[in-house]
Amino acid sequence: MTSDLEAQLRAVSLRVTRPRLAVLAALRDHPHVDTDTVIALVRADQPTVSHQAVYDVLRALTAAGLVRRIQPAGATARYESRVGDNHHHVVCRSCGTIADVDCAVGEAPCLTASDDHGFAVDEAEVVFWGTCTDCATEHLPEIRQSGRK
Ligand SMILES: [Zn+2]
Ligand SMILES: [Zn+2]
Ligand SMILES: [Zn+2]
Repeated sequence: MTSDLEAQLRAVSLRVTRPRLAVLAALRDHPHVDTDTVIALVRADQPTVSHQAVYDVLRALTAAGLVRRIQPAGATARYESRVGDNHHHVVCRSCGTIADVDCAVGEAPCLTASDDHGFAVDEAEVVFWGTCTDCATEHLPEIRQSGRK
């Protein structure tokens, strides 16, 4: 199971270490988590790994393109290991939950600027904001009582 992750590290010429494997495994199983959550997940398996070591691993994996860092306005940075498909995110304004939204085009920049001012545009940052189903349900107590979670 970890051999996939080892291959990912080798593909970008990063040395295979247990903390790197643990961070990749944590992000594979828990997309869009913040640094504190990554630390908690890694430490559940490797209690001696320091905060700094996890920060360093996240930085190295992000720089190598194995991990994507996303930071919705007003939120803490989150990390995910789904990279390379230019997908977007929908963020709940109420609870901060993030979900993936496939990009219709699949590669950046997927939108054409109406006026690029001569810039060589290489990315369009698209974030959808709204209210997740759990938060929407909270405002409709009668639906809750009828047995929905
Ligand atoms: Zn929500
Ligand atoms: Zn995502
Ligand atoms: Zn797109």
